Amino acid sequence: MEAIAYERANDIASAIRAAGEPGAAFIGGGTNLLDLMKGGIARPVKLIDITHLRDEGIGTISALPSGGVRIGALMRNSDAANHALIRSQYPLLTQAMLAGASAQLRNMATIGGNLMQRTRCPYFYDTAFAACNKRTPGSGCAAVDGYHRTHAIFGASESCIAVNPSDMSVALAALDATVQVTGPDGARGIPIGAFHRLPGDRPDIDTTLKPGELITSVDLPPSPLSNHSSYLKVRDRASYAFALVSVAAGLHMQGDKIAVIHIALGGVAPKPWRATIAEGLLTGQPLSDDALRQAAAAQMRDARPLRDNRYKVLLAERAMVRAVNVAAGRERAGVTGATA
Ligand code: SF4
Repeated sequence: MEAIAYERANDIASAIRAAGEPGAAFIGGGTNLLDLMKGGIARPVKLIDITHLRDEGIGTISALPSGGVRIGALMRNSDAANHALIRSQYPLLTQAMLAGASAQLRNMATIGGNLMQRTRCPYFYDTAFAACNKRTPGSGCAAVDGYHRTHAIFGASESCIAVNPSDMSVALAALDATVQVTGPDGARGIPIGAFHRLPGDRPDIDTTLKPGELITSVDLPPSPLSNHSSYLKVRDRASYAFALVSVAAGLHMQGDKIAVIHIALGGVAPKPWRATIAEGLLTGQPLSDDALRQAAAAQMRDARPLRDNRYKVLLAERAMVRAVNVAAGRERAGVTGATA
């Protein structure tokens, strides 16, 4: 039995101070951290309970002077997804959040925790497998020559091929969100595309957060996508399963041309993967099946699949076409729990 100290933080400053101690970890909803602790994967020596910081404004949603919205990091996923501001201005985010986990988990999990959740690579969670560079740096990667049907086709390294499991983060990437944090060196905003990092030779580090930094909110700029967006999640079963591939897509038309289009992919990389090649090819063009198919195919040319996850290349290509068509109102949403 390992002793774990507990401290209830009453304000942000004391939470950050406590996080400066070696082996300390913040706990909010705990829906991922407690699993990691039970499995012996995470071994914090001190838990800093931040759930009582809500009075400091990090547990609410508010309109920003810019016309955007600030979502407090301690908002429960279900509360944020169903909030009137999010439902009306960012329906893409509502769809993505409600596609994640189960209702019980969404009722507990926080926005900050969702951003911080770790990969669901089975070797990472099963300590019977010694080789996992993310869990034990320098030990190797059991997935490279093992079971990697669900692993990355973009952004992986020789050290780690795991994917980021968050649905919410894929929508945040399409919406150009900024993660607001505060820490020993003060407050700063991190664009969502720079928040999660690629594994390189340090897959044990998932984000660009500095030691002791606490996520306080997620800021969304005014969105041109609110009238035409869609989140498509393809998974092995219709509920409570992680994405094999997901697509967050939104567009804004001017006449018959695409004025703005944002597409982000999930389930394919260690971070939400913005489909910038497809976006560039489609912007300014009339929306047609041919243009969509060509743009999606061009996006997937950079994919680097392995033996068991080659299916993701065609799956992601077709999912992109469908998600944009649904966003544009050219196709009905239908069931998103299709089998790969
Ligand atoms: Fe560990 Fe990453 Fe390899 Fe999975 S893919 S076994 S998380 S190093």
